[in-house]
Amino acid sequence: MTLQHRIEDVTRRIEAACMRSNRRSEDVQVIAVTKYVSLEATGAAIRAGLTHIGENRWQDAAAKWDAFGSEATWHFIGSLQTRKVRDVVGKCAYIHSLDRLSLAQEIEKRASAQGQVVRCFIQVNVSGEATKQGLEPEQVKTFLEQLRTLPHVKPIGYMTMAPFEAEPEETRPVFQRLRQLRDELNATLPEPLHELSMGMSNDFDIAIEEGATWIRLGSILVGKEGIS
Ligand SMILES: *Cc1c(COP(=O)(O)O)cnc(C)c1O
Repeated sequence: MTLQHRIEDVTRRIEAACMRSNRRSEDVQVIAVTKYVSLEATGAAIRAGLTHIGENRWQDAAAKWDAFGSEATWHFIGSLQTRKVRDVVGKCAYIHSLDRLSLAQEIEKRASAQGQVVRCFIQVNVSGEATKQGLEPEQVKTFLEQLRTLPHVKPIGYMTMAPFEAEPEETRPVFQRLRQLRDELNATLPEPLHELSMGMSNDFDIAIEEGATWIRLGSILVGKEGIS
């Protein structure tokens, strides 16, 4: 399939999932995850209109950013080591993997030095898998209170990764739980947070039905090098 076909296919599936759940497709944004593809393929994706680009290792992403930085909005989606924060602040408008105070403090330091505000998703380990990053749901409220002292770190919502399931329907409870957590916290917060970054190639239809506002699509959308 060509890139254009994949974009059309994904767009149809987003619209269908929105129809099923009574949502508007404008409320679901797509992040094209280019971690599996080359510089050239990343450029092609951006030219095809995929202007939200997600990467999970900045060593691999830096050359892409050098080539196309101003043509897209960049999202850091992978786990972020504190010493790598300086590489991404000022380049990535969004960080999807905020999961600890020391990381938030480092983002604050780098962002305030550059006069930037970084929009962040708090990563939550909803499934409880030991291999997954993220705060436990019970820790999120206190974490949000701690973030209030960091004006250049702007929490906008939550991110989670569901376990890979051969049957995508089985991911539904994970996405449901993150949405419920958002809604429960919003009832207690001075300023509600709306965004839910959830859903990947294998499970994005279900994530949309459960309220995803950002989906992160790699293989199904921009391809995997060698497969495309
Ligand atoms: C790789 C990755 C994706 C995209 O994965 P696909 O299954 O290829 O869509 C999404 N989110 C994160 C955090 C990733 O690391």
